[in-house]
Amino acid sequence: MTALSYAVQLTQDLVKCPSVTPAQGGALDLLEGVLTELGFSCMRLPFGEGEARIDNLFAKIGSGRPHIAFAGHTDVVPAGDVAAWSSDPFGGEVRNGQIYGRGTADMKGGIAAFVAAAKSYLESGALTGSISLIITGDEEGEARFGTVKMVEWLEAEGLQPDLCIVGEPTNPHELGDMIKNGRRGSLSCQLRVEGVQGHVAYPHLANNPMPALFAMLAPVNSTELDGGTDYFDPSTAEVTDIKQIGGASNVIPQAASAAFNIRFNTEHSVNSLQGWLEEHFNRVAKQYEVSYQAEFSSNASPFITEPGELTTKMQAAITRLTNKQASLSTTGGTSDARFICKICPVAEFGLVGQTMHKIDEHVAIEDIDRLAAIYAEMLVELDRN
Ligand SMILES: [Zn+2]
Repeated sequence: MTALSYAVQLTQDLVKCPSVTPAQGGALDLLEGVLTELGFSCMRLPFGEGEARIDNLFAKIGSGRPHIAFAGHTDVVPAGDVAAWSSDPFGGEVRNGQIYGRGTADMKGGIAAFVAAAKSYLESGALTGSISLIITGDEEGEARFGTVKMVEWLEAEGLQPDLCIVGEPTNPHELGDMIKNGRRGSLSCQLRVEGVQGHVAYPHLANNPMPALFAMLAPVNSTELDGGTDYFDPSTAEVTDIKQIGGASNVIPQAASAAFNIRFNTEHSVNSLQGWLEEHFNRVAKQYEVSYQAEFSSNASPFITEPGELTTKMQAAITRLTNKQASLSTTGGTSDARFICKICPVAEFGLVGQTMHKIDEHVAIEDIDRLAAIYAEMLVELDRN
C-alpha cells in the first residue's frame, strides 16, 4: 500500500474524529496540534453556555499584510443509517482512489488541503503577509456560537482579515468548476388561519379556513418573486407543509396551518418581504373573515462579493492548475461566508460537492492533493501586495 499524502492523511485523521455537530470530537484538538507544529499561534474560542457551548479555533502566522484568512468547519452532519454505508463513516477508508467518510467532502478534505497548502507556502519562505484559519464547530447546526461569534471577536481584537477563502465544497462536478461569491438569504414562515368548524353539508354555518389559507399562500406557492439580478438567480418561494386542524371527511376544519420558505436575493430584505406578506395576509383575512397568525424566522441575509481582486486571483490560480475557467455563482444554500462578508471580501472554493451529506460521502484523493496545490497557488497570488 502506498503512503498517503500529507493532505489525504490529515483528511483521514480528521474524519476519524466523530465531530457530529455540535461535538468537536477531537477534530479541533487535532488541527490545533498540527497548526501549532507548523508555527501557527492557536487560540480556542468557545462561545455559548452549557449544552449550547461550541468550541472554535483561530490560528494565525505572520503579522504582515495582507492578512489572508481561510474559513471552514470541522463539524459534520450525522452519518444517518450507518448500516447503509459501505465502510465506517468515521473510518476514512481509502479505496479505488477515493476516501470515504462523513465530512470528506464537507469539509474536512478542504481544511486538510488548505493546511497542506499553508505548510508548503511557509516552507517556501515566501510569506510576506500573514495567514489565518478561522475554524468553527458550529456550521451544520444552529450556527449561533460559531463563525458569527468569531467574526465579532476578530473585529473586537482588530484582527479582521483583508480577504477570506471559505473551503466549502463548491464544485458541482469537477475541481475548478465554480467559485461561490455570494449566497441567497432565507426566510421561513409558519402560518395559521382560524375559521369556524362545522358540518360539511352545512357550510353556511361554518367558515372553512382552507380557501383563505390557499389565497394567502398563492404568491409563495412554487413561485419566482423577481427576475434575478446580475449576480443572483430569481428569488424563489416554496410551500413546505400544510395541515388542517380538527377536520374529518364530514367536518370543515376549525383551523389550518402551513409553512413556507423563501430563498431571496439582494432585491429583497427580511423586512421588505415580511411587510409585503403581512399586507397580503391582512387583505385576505379581511376578505375571508378569518383571523391568522404568521411567525417569521430568518437565519440568513443575502450577500455578494462583487467580482474583483479576490475572485480574479482565485480564478487565475484555478486556471493555472486545472485549465478551467471557474464560474462565479451564488447558487445553493447559505454558508458561513454570510457572516465573514461583514469584515472582508470573501469567496468560497473547495472540493466537489456531489456526495456531501449523503451515505458513503467520498472524494477523490487526487482532488484533495490538487485542491492543496490550487490553495498554495492562491496564497502566492494573494500574498502579493
Ligand atoms: Zn459545509
